[in-house]
Amino acid sequence: MGRGTGCPRSVVGLGALLVMWAVGGTAMAAPLPADRAMVPFAVSETGLRPAARIVLLGPPGAGKATQAARLAKSNGVPAISTGQLLRDAAAVVTMQGTEIKAILERGDVVPDDIVIALLKARLKQPDAADGWILHGFPRTLLQALALDHMLVQVKQAVSLVVSLQVPEKVMVERLVHRQVCRTCSRTYNTETNPPAKPGICDDDRGELIHRDEDDEKNATQRIEDQLRLNEEMKAYYGSRDMYLGVDGAQSIDSIQRAIESALQQRRG
Ligand SMILES: [Zn+2]
Repeated sequence: MGRGTGCPRSVVGLGALLVMWAVGGTAMAAPLPADRAMVPFAVSETGLRPAARIVLLGPPGAGKATQAARLAKSNGVPAISTGQLLRDAAAVVTMQGTEIKAILERGDVVPDDIVIALLKARLKQPDAADGWILHGFPRTLLQALALDHMLVQVKQAVSLVVSLQVPEKVMVERLVHRQVCRTCSRTYNTETNPPAKPGICDDDRGELIHRDEDDEKNATQRIEDQLRLNEEMKAYYGSRDMYLGVDGAQSIDSIQRAIESALQQRRG
């Protein structure tokens, strides 16, 4: 099948019409690499409403998970974290699940191709047809490239890449006070966003723990590493007119408003 050569020879279906509508619309016709010209830029597969496919970038403590949950709710799409996908996969007794479980237990990094395969399967689920909010991935330029390659395969494209920019010492402070539910991974901050009962998750009464990786020394190192990697991704995404830097030290509401308004502009 030829890529980018137009519609299938058979009757022009709804999907192809949607593509033509998307490519023809001025607001939707954002610059795309030549080999992606026929990929729907920001159109859902189930309706005429443009999709919300948002990638949230930022070091640990930048507020990605919080915004992902907010944006998922307001746009009616799932928030997807590759960390959670890996934990879910590791809980299932399959060859792949067992392999992932072993890697996670060793504390090693799961190879990108495994993460991409899990993500690809997730993005093809019906609930993600109208969009998704991805956080925690990509973390490197290579992962960003692999993500784009995979998105072409599933005929989806990113609407907006948001970089949450927060002063380093604020992120360290957030991580040092961060607690995570053992059961559902919901995060709390003992200073600014405490649970109703100390040490217990509001949602499922799970035990809240402070991760060793969030101690001040580890947190600082993780943040500085990610800041370096983000510079590469900024250069990559920034050249494609889909990159939005947001002051992540504002209130949670203000950050969400800034992202929603940029998304609306892209939707025309
Ligand atoms: Zn919980």
